[in-house]
Amino acid sequence: MKAYVNKDTCTGCGLCVDICSNVFSMEGDIAVAITDEISDADKNSCKEAAEQCPVEAIKIEGY
Ligand code: SF4
Repeated sequence: MKAYVNKDTCTGCGLCVDICSNVFSMEGDIAVAITDEISDADKNSCKEAAEQCPVEAIKIEGY
């Protein structure tokens, strides 16, 4: 499973970083996702972050 942040729609609210800091981090004023495969331990919180993102900027592939 991999996660991607759409940098054009991300508002930089930081919510995904709060929910899943192992996958998401702030880079300047937008969030970025790790480029590696997401570990089993982080999958649920990563999906939660995608669901909670207020602008649906997080795309998840491969689950
Ligand atoms: S929750 Fe969505 S809008 Fe907020 S920082 Fe994360 S990707 Fe960006």
